Amino acid sequence: MQDVILKPGKDRSLLRCHPWIFSGAVAKIPQGAENGETVRILDSKKQFLAYGAWSNVSSIACRVWSFEEHELIDGTFFRKRVEKAYALRKAVFHQNLPDAYRLIHAESDGLPGVVADIYPGYAVVQLSTAGAALHASEIAEALAPYAPEGVYERSDVDGRKREGLEEKTGVLSGKMPPEYMEFTENGIRFRFSPLSGHKTGFYLDQRINRAAVKSETVPGVKVLNCFCYTGGFGLAAMTGGASSVLNVDSSGPALALAQENASLNGFSPDAFKIQNADVFQFLRQCRDRAEKFDMIILDPPKLAESFAQRDRAARAYKDLNLLALKLLNPGGKLFTFSCSGAMDDDLFRKVLASAALDAGVLFREIAFLAQGPDHAECSFFPEGHYLKGIYGIRQG
Ligand code: SAH
Repeated sequence: MQDVILKPGKDRSLLRCHPWIFSGAVAKIPQGAENGETVRILDSKKQFLAYGAWSNVSSIACRVWSFEEHELIDGTFFRKRVEKAYALRKAVFHQNLPDAYRLIHAESDGLPGVVADIYPGYAVVQLSTAGAALHASEIAEALAPYAPEGVYERSDVDGRKREGLEEKTGVLSGKMPPEYMEFTENGIRFRFSPLSGHKTGFYLDQRINRAAVKSETVPGVKVLNCFCYTGGFGLAAMTGGASSVLNVDSSGPALALAQENASLNGFSPDAFKIQNADVFQFLRQCRDRAEKFDMIILDPPKLAESFAQRDRAARAYKDLNLLALKLLNPGGKLFTFSCSGAMDDDLFRKVLASAALDAGVLFREIAFLAQGPDHAECSFFPEGHYLKGIYGIRQG
């Protein structure tokens, strides 16, 4: 095994159990190491710090697998990490696992680059780093007990390029999942595609927030669900008693599935409406028509891909929230989200405060929201917290 020796003082983050080493911290790089190969990480005095996956390409030169010197990075290692992650999910869900949940949340579960979502019978995985890709077969083997039908890889993710990897999809073990599958979330039936849906097919991270929307919906209200994807929040509101939900998205296939999901749950297209549009433009049109809603959900895609895009993204979030606040009836409810890791909680709150000020409304924050607990966060890895949301009421 090759050694990676760090520059003096560059061991600080590892000593705090943070799993990343940036290329600038490395004094001696391993000659001829394969992309993703396991290396031994040493401090400037050649003391052992960790084992990690080497990257020849990424600005994150190394991602730690283990801080234990006696540990081998082999099949047993991956099996143990998955078992630990599973035990956490069992605890989080009071032993009663939902139909679909995130089993592995990458660094936060001690497995950098590995995401695994469990759907009935199948695991759908994304391997986004060179180290994770190199160990695909051991990872699939470790996941197999939780996915009796098969483990399917959906590594068609942007991050692969930064790691010098091609996008990849296909069966890792067992059977190929069907093109469409079904599961139940918060008592609502959803059809989704593990093969072509966004991420692994569904935004499981919003499960608890969809439950919150369902319970905060007052019977008879008129709802606008922006960036609706396959209708998750819209169906939550319908189930909560909304009289109508207008669901807006710019993806035709997502909207088609949203409509199917509505009929699967017995809601008619008169009440559960869909609109193919750009939300930024659509909100302006609603404003110009002076249209009003009792509840609005804003769940845009990641508007800041990196820290550098943060200011521009903050302006876009403000624009969206300002428009939404104006469309709300007094007493109306806003559920607004940001899944950009680069937007921290404080900044998101500031964006909302400034949107409310410019909209000339009094906005009361009722609850601060986050990703579901199966998208586990770990105190050593703050980057694992990415989804944040605010539920509030327009008071005046
Ligand atoms: N709320 C959804 C997930 C939203 S993901 C759920 O609970 O499942 C973000 C969605 O925004 C995607 O479906 C994407 O198609 C859509 N989208 C991205 N940019 C858009 C835009 N400018 N206008 C409308 N929809 C957009």
